[in-house]
Amino acid sequence: MTAPRRILISGAGVSGLALAHWLHRSGWAVTVVEKAGALRDGGYPIDVRGTATEVVRRMGILPRLRDGHIDSRRCTFLDAEGGEVASVSPRAVAGGVEGQDLEVRRGDLVASLHALVRDDVEFLFDDSVAAFDPAGRGVDVTFRGGRQRTFDLVVGADGAHSHTRESLFGPEERFHRYLGYCFALFTMPNTLGLSRELVMWNTPGKAAALYAVGDADEVHALLAFHRPQPPSDALRDPDARQGLVATVFADAGWEIPGMIDALRDAEDPFFDTVGQIRMPRWSSGRVALVGDAAYAPSFLTGQGTSLALAGAYTLAHALAAHRDHTAAFAAHERDLREFVAVNQALVDNGAATLFPTTARALEQRNTLLRGLVTLPSATARPAHSALTLPEPPAGTTAGGRCHRGPGPSGRR
Ligand SMILES: Cc1cc2nc3c(=O)[nH]c(=O)nc-3n(C[C@H](O)[C@H](O)[C@H](O)COP(=O)(O)OP(=O)(O)OC[C@H]3O[C@@H](n4cnc5c(N)ncnc54)[C@H](O)[C@@H]3O)c2cc1C
Repeated sequence: MTAPRRILISGAGVSGLALAHWLHRSGWAVTVVEKAGALRDGGYPIDVRGTATEVVRRMGILPRLRDGHIDSRRCTFLDAEGGEVASVSPRAVAGGVEGQDLEVRRGDLVASLHALVRDDVEFLFDDSVAAFDPAGRGVDVTFRGGRQRTFDLVVGADGAHSHTRESLFGPEERFHRYLGYCFALFTMPNTLGLSRELVMWNTPGKAAALYAVGDADEVHALLAFHRPQPPSDALRDPDARQGLVATVFADAGWEIPGMIDALRDAEDPFFDTVGQIRMPRWSSGRVALVGDAAYAPSFLTGQGTSLALAGAYTLAHALAAHRDHTAAFAAHERDLREFVAVNQALVDNGAATLFPTTARALEQRNTLLRGLVTLPSATARPAHSALTLPEPPAGTTAGGRCHRGPGPSGRR
């Protein structure tokens, strides 16, 4: 029997863990390196929709995720003074399908994926790839912790600011498509007593939101604002970032002064620009990218997690179907490109429905929202389901359990 092929996945996020699962099931020896000391479970709740719902069903974690479905009651939109503009069903805004699509805590999804693989996959936490050399018959990897190993393949699943991508293809600016907004995400006390709901305040070019998941004592807070050019210098310096947000929202009403204070005190503030990653190729030689590292669609589409799940599945499928990695990577790109393109096209520069940048666009958006109040919930957006999944990689079953028959591990 030949030894299993060895693969290193950089990043234990959604795409890395999902890929680890499917590759292990088809016979690979999988190592995952994660630069954080443990799974990163923070963040706003995330959506799993359309094609990605089928991926998690095939992994056997759909029931667990359904138990954790957030099922928010409403989204309330406010004007500059905090007066109500409209209160609508979350599905009407996001284009989800009741009873099919899921909204779960990011931490719940990551924990469910990790539970599938933790006993079968090698995890190296608190470490990362310092350098790799793909020139030989494998990829020689030097880790920051000092160890050196050789893998048949390496996959970068290390998020929108992927280090793997930078090492392989060059600086992020080449592939980053700025969408005209910056944002700060943090948690703060639930002083308004919100429960299973989102409240969003808007003025032209500015948005503030509080999102209560369940009846928790804390809410997720978001401050987002329009900038024609990315404030790159400010983003690099934590104090400058705080200062920029405070300046932009200095005259704002509603709960925003309290939000600015909470941002200053927050333990977990996350600042970034809103953008997409668009690349002509997702692999080079024995190294490939998956998820946000290759094709982040931005949180404005709500599709980052769904693309990551579908991408991990199709990449594993291609590697199971093609012994030659070059053919596998090419097949994967062929299968996934269109799906990525239609989902990235859901948003355009400065044109996010939730964050109108002009008074006219805001009024139009509000008119639309008032109309939604009286309409039935939206149906699914075709982009969410625009990919038909191939059957699970050989050697696996729909429930995620492994047939011990011939599969890729049996070396066809
Ligand atoms: C902490 C956190 C909070 C998030 N919050 C939100 C949110 O509120 N809303 C939203 O829409 N999306 C959020 N996202 C992004 C969202 O999870 C992704 O868009 C989506 O799930 C696709 O996942 P991914 O696995 O491709 O990337 P990610 O989920 O970003 O996972 C990448 C993983 O790689 C790790 N990593 C990064 N660099 C290295 C490195 N050099 N070496 C090893 N590991 C590395 C990261 O720590 C992370 O665990 C968040 C991501 C993270 C990590």
